[in-house]
Amino acid sequence: MPININEARARLLERKAEIEHLRDISKDARKPVKLDQQSVGRLSRMDAMQGQALAQETERRRQGELMRIERALKAIDLDEYGLCVSCGDEIAQKRLELDPSALSCIRCASGEDRSR
Ligand SMILES: [Zn+2]
Repeated sequence: MPININEARARLLERKAEIEHLRDISKDARKPVKLDQQSVGRLSRMDAMQGQALAQETERRRQGELMRIERALKAIDLDEYGLCVSCGDEIAQKRLELDPSALSCIRCASGEDRSR
C-alpha cells in the first residue's frame, strides 16, 4: 500500500501547528533569569536557571522538528515524499507512520547516529 500523501500532509501540518503553539506558550520560560538577590534565594535561582536551560533545550528540539516538517512538506510538493534524502531509497512506511517528518531511511538514520 503506497503512502497516503494527503494524510501525511495533514499530520505534518497538525504537528507544525502544535509545535508553534507550544513555542508560543513557552516563550516566558526561555526569558533570561532575573537574578534578584532580594526576593530569590540561591537555590531557587539555580532552579530557575535550570528550568530556563531545559526550556531552551526543548526549544532547540522543536526548531529541529519544525525544520524537518518544513522539508517533508516541501518534499510532498516536489513529489519526493517518502524518499531518503541521503540515499534516495524509499523510507519504510512504518517509519513514516511513526514520524511523518522522517527524512532518511532507517539505515541512513542509524548510520548517522553512529558517526555522531
Ligand atoms: Zn537512506
